[in-house]
Formats: sequence, C-alpha cells, structure tokens
Amino acid sequence: MSVQTLTRQWASASDGMALEDPRLFRQLAYVNGCWVHGEAGREEAVFDPATGERLGQVPWLESTQIDTAIAAADEAQREWRKLRADQRGELLDAWYDLIRAHKQDLAMLMTREQGKSLDDARGEVEYGASFVHWFAEEGSRAFGETIPSHIPNAALGTVREPIGVAALITPWNFPLAMITRKAAAALAAGCTVLVKPAGETPFSALALAELAERAGIPAGVFSVITGEAAEVSKQLCDDPRVAGLSFTGSTRVGRLLLSQCADSVKRVSLELGGNAPFIVGPDMDPEEAARAAVDAKFQTSGQDCLAANRILVHDSLYEDFLSHFVRLMKQLKVGNGLVSGIDMGPLIHRDAVAKAQTIVDDAVEQGARLIHGDQSMAPGPNFFMPVLLADVTPNMRAWREETFSPVAGVTAWHDEEEVIAMANDTEYGLAAYVYTHDIRRVWQLMRGLRFGMVSVNSVKMTGAPIPFGGVKQSGLGREGGRQGLEEYLDIKYYCLGGM
Ligand code: NAD
Repeated sequence: MSVQTLTRQWASASDGMALEDPRLFRQLAYVNGCWVHGEAGREEAVFDPATGERLGQVPWLESTQIDTAIAAADEAQREWRKLRADQRGELLDAWYDLIRAHKQDLAMLMTREQGKSLDDARGEVEYGASFVHWFAEEGSRAFGETIPSHIPNAALGTVREPIGVAALITPWNFPLAMITRKAAAALAAGCTVLVKPAGETPFSALALAELAERAGIPAGVFSVITGEAAEVSKQLCDDPRVAGLSFTGSTRVGRLLLSQCADSVKRVSLELGGNAPFIVGPDMDPEEAARAAVDAKFQTSGQDCLAANRILVHDSLYEDFLSHFVRLMKQLKVGNGLVSGIDMGPLIHRDAVAKAQTIVDDAVEQGARLIHGDQSMAPGPNFFMPVLLADVTPNMRAWREETFSPVAGVTAWHDEEEVIAMANDTEYGLAAYVYTHDIRRVWQLMRGLRFGMVSVNSVKMTGAPIPFGGVKQSGLGREGGRQGLEEYLDIKYYCLGGM
C-alpha cells in the first residue's frame, strides 16, 4: 500500500464521540479503512462561509494514492458482492442508526462548512439517512425475471448483478444527502464506492466514513478521496476498474465528465442543474401561492437545484402576488446558521455573491423592476439579501441561468399554451411546480412540461421512495426509488439449454 496509514488520532471505538468539530479530521482522507495524509503534502483549506474562519484542511491525494484506493475498492468488491442482500442491508441499517444518533453533530458540522441553518442541516441529516434505510430494504428486491422460452428445452431468464466499483462525485449544497442518495443504493446493490466530495464541504463526507466504519462496513467498501477536483475526477473517469460514475453538480462539469467516461464506456448517472418554473394559475389565492413560492425559492438560500428559478404568475393576480411575496420575504431572517431562528445562511463563497449581483444588475439594465433587496443590509461578505425582480423576460440571465442564489424573478402570463412554452424555454429539465386547483389545467400542464419531476400544489416533492432526476441538460438516470438501485445493477441474461 502506498498510502500512509496513520495511528488514529481520535478514538473511533467510542461510538458516543461527537463529530461536530472539523479539527477531528486532521488533514486526513479515508481510503481502504485507513485515515491517510496526502503523500506530497498538498492540502485544501475549508472555511466557514458565515464567518470566514478557517475550519481546517483536507489533503489532496496524489495519483498513486487514488490508484491504491481504486485497487482496494476493486478488491473489496469481490467479497462485498458475495454477501446476501439482507446482510448488506443489516450493515446499512447499522449505518443509518449511527447517522441518526449523531444528527446533532452532523448538523453542526454541516452548518459550519456549508452555512445552512441548523434546522435545515438537521433536516438534511434525516433526509440523507432516509436513503440508507430505504436502500437497506430495497437491495433485497433486485429481482430478475423468467422469460417464456422460444428455444426448445431451455430455461431463459435474467439475474441482476452489481456493476462493480462506483465513483461518486458530489456537490457542496447538500454535503451529506447527495452522498447517501448515491452510496446507499450502490452499497445495497453490491457495489463498492469511492466518494469525491466537493472541496468546500469535505467534513460531512469524512464524518459519514467514520460512521460507516463504526457500523462495520468493511475496509475498501466506502472510501472518501479528497483532492484536486479535476485531477481526481479525470483519474476516476479514465480507470477501467471503475465501472460507473454518478455525479451531482453543475451541467458544465457534468458534460465534461460524460465525455471523460467515453473511452472506458462507463455507466454514467448525472444529476445536474435546474431552472425550475413555478406556475401560479388564475384560480389561486395569491397569498397562499406567494407563501409556497417563497418556500420554494429561498430554501438553502436559493442554492438548491429544485429552487423556483422563474416564477410565472397569471396576470389576473400578478400585482397581488407580488405584494404578498415581498411582505413574506421581508420576514426571512438572514444570518449565521448556528444562530437560532435564522432562515437563510450565507452563500457558499464570494464568487457566488458576485454572480448573484451581476444577475440582478443584468435584469435591471434590461428593464426588470427591482422591488426588494438591499445588499447594504447583508450581515457579512458572503451573504446576499433576498431579492425580488418583477417583469423578468427570457433575454435576461435571471431567466436563462440557474441563479443558485436568493434572487426571485417573476413574470406574468395570460394563457395556458403560452405558460407551457415559457416554462419549457430552457436547456434544463429537472423540476417544475404548478399551483392551481383546476384539475383540467393540472393535467394539461403536467403533461406539457418537459421536466423530470412536476410537483402540483406542494413544495415538498423529494424523498427516498421517488425517482429523482431530470431530462434535457439536467441529467441522465434517476436517484432514489427502485430506479435508484437499477443505476448500480447490470442485467445478466441466461439461457439454460438441455433442460
Ligand atoms: P460543481 O459542478 O462545480 O461541482 C460538483 C462536483 O464536481 C464537486 O465535487 C467538485 O469538486 C467537482 N468538480 C468541479 N470542477 C470540476 C472539474 N473541472 N472536473 C471534475 N470535477 C469537478 O457543482 P457545485 O457548484 O458543487 O453544485 C452546484 C450545482 O449542482 C448546481 O448546478 C446544482 O443545480 C447542482 N445540483 C444538482 C442536484 C440534482 O440532484 N440534480 C442536486 C444538488 C445540486
């Protein structure tokens, strides 16, 4: 092994030990059951986006160390796939219990490295854990089929088999749940995983590794590789021992990884960006619709692939909707997520703040009305106060791009055909919201919208049992539900002749 194995600096034997202090992960990654330093001493600092405080650092692993991690995952896979599904399920359930038992520590760690409020972070821990529980059971339902034979004296059918080693590359906006949504499915299917977390939020991933180890998940089955993103990803995409890549992140990086996986023809699953329309019908109470739109826009400070990005309101209630929306958004409390009662934490870094401002400036220059949003009230350099723009049009960046910030853009519409065309006027196709109680209109919109997910009269749409994913440039494949397991399974057809 070329990885440098360290004496553990903290006692993993103590199941009760808190995990909320990033200093616990002293420049270590987790490879093949060992906590390792980078061989060349390269490292990446991690900051609290609310305060700018340096929380710690993680190593950048070198190519030889990544090679070792891939070899270990490949080796571990041979035994892991042989376990019965219920045996893997028991280990996943032990992991699930530990994640829930450490909800408070994991939430604290997440708030510090990501910035979201502690309540939202606790919600993410529960959400992330729910995938582990779901797939612990679902692994036992990786059914094959019997095929009525057209060949004399032969029995035909299929069995499902794990694809092998899976590389999981994840973003910073949901540092825990985006890992468990992939890893639980892969592990349940009999695959081993190499997780490459976002450089901004590696500690949640490392805490998950610690808990996986405590749960008894064997060495090499779940490793966390920290490193320079482009280098690590390229090596994972190029290596033929890695059978599949599951990526959540921007469409820009997703495209790059898809092309890098072409040479080794990997199974690729991509959960990419969104540009969700939020459509309000003429029959809606404008206050009820505005309340739902505020929820759908500002969660995780707008840094959510499901965030309402274009709010399309019937012209008969447009001005009423805007006045309720602005009243409700003024009630949002912006500040350090560790403080009780905070609704919106900081953005992830200053580049995100600068991008949000340029999107607002572009809209205003092109004729949008800036109804609310005073950045002089921001409590720190990484914060962006919620903004309301009215009369947004398709030529503006606020319409075309995923703003990934608390910038709400609202536009009026008049007839149904028009609003379907407006909603579909994007390269993205992840999620759409529809608010109306008119059943005919619900059906027309639901069928006309080119999105992977449509939520009618509900902001909450996700969860472990549903097939999460997008169409168009929002991605390939699905996560969660029975479809989530299939991403990590091959179909093997058999023909038993001479029966
Ligand atoms: P990102 O694409 O910048 O980064 C995602 C991951 O890719 C990180 O691990 C990062 O380190 C890595 N990466 C970055 N540059 C790379 C490169 N050149 N080569 C290889 N790897 C690279 O995305 P982000 O900013 O972390 O996350 C925000 C994006 O994620 C948004 O577009 C959002 O919509 C999307 N997202 C989608 C979903 C979904 O389920 N569809 C969920 C959450 C986030």
